[in-house]
Amino acid sequence: MKRINTHLVITILLMLFVSASWTSSCIGMLHKVKKGETLSGIAKKYDVPMKRIIQNNSIASIDHLQIGEKLLIPLSTKPTNASEGPNGTWYEVKDRDTLYSIARKHNIEDWKKLQQINGISNPKRIKPGQTIFIPGDGDIGFALPIRTKLYVTSRYGYRNHPITGRYRLHEGIDFRAATGTQVHASKTGTVTFAAKKGGYGKAVSIQHEDDFSTVYGHLSRIYVSKGDFVKQGQVIGLTGSSGHSTGPHLHFEIRYKGKSENPARHLDLR
Ligand SMILES: [Zn+2]
Repeated sequence: MKRINTHLVITILLMLFVSASWTSSCIGMLHKVKKGETLSGIAKKYDVPMKRIIQNNSIASIDHLQIGEKLLIPLSTKPTNASEGPNGTWYEVKDRDTLYSIARKHNIEDWKKLQQINGISNPKRIKPGQTIFIPGDGDIGFALPIRTKLYVTSRYGYRNHPITGRYRLHEGIDFRAATGTQVHASKTGTVTFAAKKGGYGKAVSIQHEDDFSTVYGHLSRIYVSKGDFVKQGQVIGLTGSSGHSTGPHLHFEIRYKGKSENPARHLDLR
């Protein structure tokens, strides 16, 4: 009987805690984490977006829930499209996506982490429209540097240079853009270069965390200076056709430890 009483007291205390910490019209319940449970599994069980559970609980690590840890489960609707949260992002699976490609796009080194966090038993069976939780602090991954309709005029890879005719690596991706189109920082970082640079014309380089950097070439205007801290999405300049260029476009590079990578692996070009 004593044990039951203790349980009763704890339950009442928890209910008080829930009602006290609960805001406005939300209705929720408590879930005690059992061995082998994942956050995504719990979210699925209650049909609640994982993001909502994370928002309503101070979870130390979403990879490893503590057995016995009590989670406040808010009762709510499913997540709409991909949206940002304080501890990560929701991503909606598109055609031809794989966990590997999604991980690459969000700079997550090990795609198995996504599998584990989302409780996916068979990684080959992810479906378009399915939402996947991407852990991070909101500013993860690279955002598109231009926000006008995308038109890729030259992809990353070996090509004959349109001006010199020489066969060499095109180290970035070219987006057609009318002169004066705003150029946004693809990721938060520090400006390491903001001036004219040979074939690049007026160019900006930004150093990001984790040894990644981005380069923006052929600009008509530069709005930042070396040493500036820029936030993801911040306008850093305007497109143009400066340097070796056959027409107004943005040349955009993503580099890892100085070596160029295919930006298409990091950007959502569809
Ligand atoms: Zn280019």
